[in-house]
Amino acid sequence: MGMGPLESAPLCVRRDGQVYRVESGTLRPITAAAAKSAVVVDYQSLGRAQKRVFDSLWSDHSSRVLSSLSPSPATSTGAAPELYMGHRRQQVADASELVSVGYYRETGRLGLLRPAAAKAFSAMQEAAELDGVELVPISTHRTVRYQQALFLKAIKKYGGTAEAARWSFPPQYSEHHTGYALDIGDGSVPAADVEPRFAQTAAYDWLRRNATRFGFELSFGPDGPISFEPWHWRFVGDTTARNYFHPPAVDHDGVAPREARPPAAAAQRSFGR
Ligand SMILES: [Zn+2]
Repeated sequence: MGMGPLESAPLCVRRDGQVYRVESGTLRPITAAAAKSAVVVDYQSLGRAQKRVFDSLWSDHSSRVLSSLSPSPATSTGAAPELYMGHRRQQVADASELVSVGYYRETGRLGLLRPAAAKAFSAMQEAAELDGVELVPISTHRTVRYQQALFLKAIKKYGGTAEAARWSFPPQYSEHHTGYALDIGDGSVPAADVEPRFAQTAAYDWLRRNATRFGFELSFGPDGPISFEPWHWRFVGDTTARNYFHPPAVDHDGVAPREARPPAAAAQRSFGR
């Protein structure tokens, strides 16, 4: 296809925190450093026709990236870009390092986390139980293959890769890969599992007041760029985990590199993050 309305416009476009160079009818993601010396326009400031062209290129690009994503954890640090549609690529925990945190209700699905996170979660469960609250591990560590299945479901449901990425995290980009993140439910309110109404349960209220003591924090809080997920918590209670999710500033301005900041995506609700 011809680029039409984009030909006369500046050829670098920023969308969801990533700058793309428009080149022979394709989009090429460029680094933050390269973007500094380019004329970059924000996606939002494109005209309607330009947006349409960009959307189409972006959708092609997304499909290509998705097809390059490997379902195998062994090659998961391969070709996938550090940032994909505003999502940060995540480390995939080695399955042999993970330990059990118990089953998700009656499903027979066993929860697995890294040892430090598992130990802290168990301690947190015990403390909650003393207060009459049962914390249930719903979804813990996920393999890349499992996330890929979730993401393909989202593609079917929402009609395309770009659309799916607004509601779901693509394989390799979910915090669940790290072995530090888990979705937590309330033992007495199964209907609130992975639902916005979880925010009204005793379990959420308890977590809000106590999770920090056990090294857990909300990944997608009520005021963040990504839709609020009251059930999704991550462990930041040891140095390794804390540095992973909150990388220390590295450049001379005291600002963490763009790629190291938490993912920013324009999602309104969730689907398998
Ligand atoms: Zn989650």
